[in-house]
Amino acid sequence: MIEQEFERVFNAAPEVIAQAPGRVNLIGEHIDYSEGFVLPFAIDDVTRCAIARRSDRRVRVTSAQQVNELIEVSLDDIAAMRGEGWVRYVLGVIWSLEIETGLDIYIDGKVPLGAGLSSSAALECSVATALNHLFHLEKSLSELALLTQRAENKYVGVPCGIMDQSVSLMAKAGYALLLDCRDLSTRHISVDFAGADLRLLIIDTRAHHALIDGGYAERRASCEEVAKLLGVGSMRALSIEMLQSREPELTPTQFKRARHAVTEIARVLEAVKRLESKDFYAFGELLNESHRSLRDDYTVSCPELDAAVDAALENGALGSRMVGGGFGGSAVALIRDEDAGKVSLAIEKAFAAKGFTAPRFFSSLPSDGAKVIS
Ligand code: ADP
Ligand code: MG
Repeated sequence: MIEQEFERVFNAAPEVIAQAPGRVNLIGEHIDYSEGFVLPFAIDDVTRCAIARRSDRRVRVTSAQQVNELIEVSLDDIAAMRGEGWVRYVLGVIWSLEIETGLDIYIDGKVPLGAGLSSSAALECSVATALNHLFHLEKSLSELALLTQRAENKYVGVPCGIMDQSVSLMAKAGYALLLDCRDLSTRHISVDFAGADLRLLIIDTRAHHALIDGGYAERRASCEEVAKLLGVGSMRALSIEMLQSREPELTPTQFKRARHAVTEIARVLEAVKRLESKDFYAFGELLNESHRSLRDDYTVSCPELDAAVDAALENGALGSRMVGGGFGGSAVALIRDEDAGKVSLAIEKAFAAKGFTAPRFFSSLPSDGAKVIS
């Protein structure tokens, strides 16, 4: 229990305990920077943090996932540090929320680290939720999302979008969060996989290919070039018909990059309709289209992701696609509960036959967002 662990390390009781989940994005990939929509849900794995105030200006932090490491700094040094290592995710939130009181902090996370399930946002949002409560900051969930994103962008130094923090803070069990990346408005979308005896299998391929050609920056720049050439603000403003009629003005690569963005934005909105009408087979087809678009037009897949998707589909998945930035990381597959063993075994076998590192599997239904638990 986190209370006992806190007391063992700090010889005092915590004043607040909060938790925040990791996430998986159902659909809407590589379109946050094109003012598109994303549709993530919170997984049931959470990161917890226990915090107590101190009477001096010291901040002491330890994590069950980083054994034997008690990090101690002064509040006065945090702004200048921007240091290395895991603790900067915690210090970044203290910095972003402008906390001016010393703290003892104990972290215990169940979200797998670095599997593409956003353990980083889970950690940031659990700390932000606890501090918001402890200091009566009265920040709204969207304010906390922007403040934790600021911590990750400006303090940790990772240029992430707003999706991970938004869903970790705002999610509701049984729903995915439709997030409009243009104005940051949100809508909860019912996702009743369990009612149809379905589940989302998450496959961590454990592959991490270096982006030889600066992959992310190149994709993003292509979309921005196309917007400029066609005189629109972003890919959001284009329909597929408009894009096709202007194809002669674009290079083949620019056209393919833009086609992914435009069709993916349309797929997210169609996915919402199909989920709301519980047409999960038709929803699965959108996952497949998304994967083909990411693989063939955006060219951000890799052999491990394709192998996972192909093996899932060959073994009865309703749909499957890579998730996240690509070139490694995770894939998802919508499968029948009864097929869970068969599908993961088939993926394991396909990986072994190709000499890939053995994958890891997770599964989750849409779960609740961050909360104070005591
Ligand atoms: P992801 O967010 O996909 O899991 P990231 O590289 O963005 O991957 O974030 C993972 C990093 O976040 C870890 O390497 C570690 O520095 C930090 N982190 C996440 N959870 C914890 C935890 N429970 N304890 C300590 N550090 C953590
Ligand atoms: Mg992360």
